[in-house]
Amino acid sequence: MSVSSTAEARAGFVRLRPYQIQALERVQARIAEGVRRIVIVLATGGGKTTIAVQIILEAISRGQCVLFLAHRRELISQTYRRLVQMGVPEGEVGVLMGSDPRRRPGAKVQVASVDTLRNRAKPRADIVFVDECHRALARSYQEISAHYPDAVHLGLTATPYRADGRGLGDAYQELVVVASPSELIAEGFLVAPSVFTVPREHLPDLSSVHIRAGDYESKQLEDAVNRKALIGNIIEHWVQLANGKRTVAFAVSVEHSKHIAERFREAGVAAEHLDGTTPGDERDAILGRLEAGTTLVVANCNVLCEGWDQPSVKCAILARPTKSTGLYLQQAGRILRPWNDQRAIILDHAGCAVEHGLPQDDRDFSLDGRKKSGRRAVAEAPTKVCPSCCAVVPVACRTCPECSAEFPAPERVPEERSGVLVSAEEVREQHLRDEWEKLNRIAIERGYKPGWVFHRFKEKFGRLPPKRTTVTSAPAEPRSAAFARIQAQESSAAWAALRFRVQFGEPPPPT
Ligand SMILES: [Zn+2]
Repeated sequence: MSVSSTAEARAGFVRLRPYQIQALERVQARIAEGVRRIVIVLATGGGKTTIAVQIILEAISRGQCVLFLAHRRELISQTYRRLVQMGVPEGEVGVLMGSDPRRRPGAKVQVASVDTLRNRAKPRADIVFVDECHRALARSYQEISAHYPDAVHLGLTATPYRADGRGLGDAYQELVVVASPSELIAEGFLVAPSVFTVPREHLPDLSSVHIRAGDYESKQLEDAVNRKALIGNIIEHWVQLANGKRTVAFAVSVEHSKHIAERFREAGVAAEHLDGTTPGDERDAILGRLEAGTTLVVANCNVLCEGWDQPSVKCAILARPTKSTGLYLQQAGRILRPWNDQRAIILDHAGCAVEHGLPQDDRDFSLDGRKKSGRRAVAEAPTKVCPSCCAVVPVACRTCPECSAEFPAPERVPEERSGVLVSAEEVREQHLRDEWEKLNRIAIERGYKPGWVFHRFKEKFGRLPPKRTTVTSAPAEPRSAAFARIQAQESSAAWAALRFRVQFGEPPPPT
């Protein structure tokens, strides 16, 4: 029987979408060809659980056993509900999670919490699913996985990279990319958000924050971000652009998250905070109030990044700068499911959209991550920021899609160079700098005067030599060092002081 006809027959009222059927066929063809470890990549909202359940239905109809691993309570409950909803008899689904009463040792499908299963006897399995498999290289997963050397291992994720930017090639052999964000948007399964950032002075200064294991060092990051002025700006921005929308805010730390919620409440907006220590029922109550609209903003730190599904939440505040494209996409992806034709808004107070591209960009994924291949696995489209409304938009836009402002500068034509988009003008400038240096070397070798180089260049290219760019990009020199340098150049102290005053518009520092 073909995949699509079993899908039709078994899925009950959950009708598979055409791309989901295609994905099933591709995954099953690869398994039939002998591939044992496959990552199924599907943007948030693409329905990866539906695809997994379909594979599970077909496996148990052949008498096989399936283990489905997840690391969070909600993911486990959500998968359980989906299995039953799509036609797996309840008696054939067991849950292995703490003292959960749905424990059914004989059931063919076991949905297990990674933490629980680590310390228990492992159930039989012919197929091992790992949900949110970008974590699959963590030791707990590897330990469990090692018990199933002969099984087929299928990973599910929207973001196939690890936090440190490396790929999943150590755990999986192949990626099957199911549908790109642009396809999902075109078919109405996802909405493209409006993304707004803030002027540079309202972004945290991260110049002194160290990077560890691929992301910012968390204590230093908190110090840079948990500031009254920055949080105040978050509130103002929200009132201006997203007032009234159900909102999730992603913070750097528990303290930062609490402060964000507090400042919202001070401004008269119903806001709450939750973190990893919030008890399950309290958490459900908070999210229930958010759904009801009696709470408008829920701030959190690392709790609602993945696996949380509440389509009525249509605004995300990104207050956690990150070097991890995966984490950024997980957070932004929370609000992209369509709901009542409402606009999805991302308020980026972390500089993420400019650094990692827009969340709806189609990306090239690979199992290598970025390091092995020597360039970024992600080839996101370059963006720019609208000077009048701070929307982050594709670089090719002539007018702002949000505020209709016209962009002042004429567009440069981007040119592809080793996978990175740079402007054609930049390429040309670099070429001229190279030529200028070549002529200088010739002059030195042959003992020509500097004037020769100048004339030769002008003759060849019809213009003046390029300016040195290193000067402008050098970090600002401290005033005292600048004054010392000027003093060393000038024979008289009075002249040095005068030059300093002219250059900096202030008297020289005391020496
Ligand atoms: Zn604009």
